[in-house]
Amino acid sequence: MTVDGIRLKVQGGGRITREEAQWLWKHATDDDLRGMAQMVRARFHDPAVCTYMLMRIINYTNVCVAQCDYCAFYTLPNQEGGYVLSTDAVFAKIDELIALGGDLVAFNGGFNPALALEYYCELFHAVRERYGDRIEFYALTIAEFMYLADHAKLDYATTARRFKAAGVRWITGGGSEILTEDFRRRHSKFKYTVAQYFEAQRAIIEAGLRTTATMVIGFDESVDERLEHLERTRQFQDENGGLASFLCWTFKPYFTALGGALGGIEISTGEYLRHLALSRIYLDNVPRIRTSVLTQNERALEGLLYGADDFDLPVEDEVTQKAGATISLQFDKILSYARELGYTPMYRRVATAGVEEAAQMV
Ligand code: SF4
Repeated sequence: MTVDGIRLKVQGGGRITREEAQWLWKHATDDDLRGMAQMVRARFHDPAVCTYMLMRIINYTNVCVAQCDYCAFYTLPNQEGGYVLSTDAVFAKIDELIALGGDLVAFNGGFNPALALEYYCELFHAVRERYGDRIEFYALTIAEFMYLADHAKLDYATTARRFKAAGVRWITGGGSEILTEDFRRRHSKFKYTVAQYFEAQRAIIEAGLRTTATMVIGFDESVDERLEHLERTRQFQDENGGLASFLCWTFKPYFTALGGALGGIEISTGEYLRHLALSRIYLDNVPRIRTSVLTQNERALEGLLYGADDFDLPVEDEVTQKAGATISLQFDKILSYARELGYTPMYRRVATAGVEEAAQMV
């Protein structure tokens, strides 16, 4: 195997194998990876443009029974500090986001046994009724969706249809972390198997909802486990379509059980960027590859050079903030970094109506 050989394959529109990806990870330089990632990016996007969204993650409850060892966010039922946000508190957070020029909300909480399916349907219905198409919202991650479907003793298809009837259009691929059964046995044994994860995602797509692919790196996973995750994602997309984007972020270890065991060390930004490039090259059937400002701050924008085309400007996410993520609201400063790197940032609106033109910030 040679870099030139693999580059020629990518240049000709060919698909790299898992062995070739493994080889690239070990032997390719940063420049090699960047170059190939840019080739694949150019199939989908203007090479001079990047897109972004201004969004807020609303952590509607922190009560969770899953007990993942990489999580600093949750409290167990009946433990001090547990909360569930009221609908008014949710509205207040959305109003703040709109005032800042944003139009995307992502609901993310825990596996809270006190919340029935009706709670979610009523909340999402209320949000859609109040805001219509002025905002869009990602209703939960797949992991939460699976928990509440099981809790309600409903199959995934029925639950997805109930959500759709409540005004939901998106359920993200969050809760995937590393999609190998062994990783999940090691770190999140109450959080569903990989097979169940994809079964739920298939039901979500078949119900006419939209979804995304996600990944988190920087735990104790091996390169082979990372590649298995990418392979399963590519295969799922081949078989089902429906994955609008792929977002990878990095594990924040602080105040987590696993982080303590690993000595509280984060992977380097350099390693993250190489992984982004490899993801862009490998996931040749996913149009949008996103880079994580939430966990890499402005250095995430260097991911644009490594094949990413899109990013969030987050306003809040308690889950990662509790584990050490820091959020800056100096959006202009972050966007100016994209310009310094040679890109024209353009606001990517997901809502279809009514919010003030956030592109003014560009
Ligand atoms: S990562 Fe999510 S599912 Fe796991 S313990 Fe934390 S809140 Fe619960």
